[in-house]
Amino acid sequence: MEEQAKETIEKRSWNLDWDEYFMALAFLSAQRSKDPKTQVGACIVNKDNRIVGMGYNGMPNYCKDEDFPWEKGQTAEDNKHLYVCHAELNAVVNKIQADVKGCRMFVTLFPCNECAKIIIQSGIEEVIYNEMPDIQEGEKKQEKEESRKAAQKMFGYNNNVTLTPYKPERGTVFKIERQDPECRAEIRL
Ligand SMILES: [Zn+2]
Repeated sequence: MEEQAKETIEKRSWNLDWDEYFMALAFLSAQRSKDPKTQVGACIVNKDNRIVGMGYNGMPNYCKDEDFPWEKGQTAEDNKHLYVCHAELNAVVNKIQADVKGCRMFVTLFPCNECAKIIIQSGIEEVIYNEMPDIQEGEKKQEKEESRKAAQKMFGYNNNVTLTPYKPERGTVFKIERQDPECRAEIRL
């Protein structure tokens, strides 16, 4: 009897690579944010590609979302910037190991100057960011540009932290759609 040809099963070739995986997780974390305008996510990984911290922008612990502003007003009563903890800060303080020295941070948006300080002080060695902030004309334009420049200056000083724009080899695009309120978020790659 003739032996039947064995069917060869090949491994999947379209699995996520590490960087795609971590950036996708940063995007997913951002979806936890209640900020109506900007949702940012961050994911810290160590040299063994283990996830050691995740974060998104939100109000501090015990500060109820209903009692704090989500606007960009001028006074303390209506200015979210005085209260919101950025994704990078939350990812660092949420760490599950003693420190994050030598780690990489994946973040959906380039860090502000305040987060740059936290990243440098925590010993993170590389920041992989998906996009630079889209700074529009307006009263906060100068402030935002100064923040970005200060962050770049601190990161770049003595090559403190390597800045890597996220450029997936396969052109992976992260798009999170929630088509109807009953549906859970869907990630398309
Ligand atoms: Zn920040």
